[in-house]
Amino acid sequence: METTMIDHVGIAVKSIDEALPFWEGALGVKCSGRETVEEQKVTTAFLPIRESEIELLEATSPDSPIAGFMEKRGEGIHHLAIRVDNLENALAHLKEKGVRLIDEHPRKGAGGARIAFIHPKAAGGILLELCER
Ligand code: ZN
Repeated sequence: METTMIDHVGIAVKSIDEALPFWEGALGVKCSGRETVEEQKVTTAFLPIRESEIELLEATSPDSPIAGFMEKRGEGIHHLAIRVDNLENALAHLKEKGVRLIDEHPRKGAGGARIAFIHPKAAGGILLELCER
């Protein structure tokens, strides 16, 4: 499998509106857009930094995975996403290596990406996302 770059870092926030003044005002990282992914019950705000980006994640419902994460750990880094050339190949490779996956098949992520998560138990406690654009 071929990994190409850190695609984005996903950060769980209570409110995107409350988080943006820090990112945009203090750090000067401008939000390029927002998108709600209904099936994951999350709204994402994109803050590009050159080729990669920060993604702020806000739950749209109390049973959202982001709401569950925040209940346990509060605001903070939720996941790290690595870009791959070919997601099917990457998943097949990892399965062959016996790596525990959350998603055995690609699913739709924000920004038109195809994504799949690797289980934190297989990745040193980090929720790792593989992302193909
Ligand atoms: Zn992500």
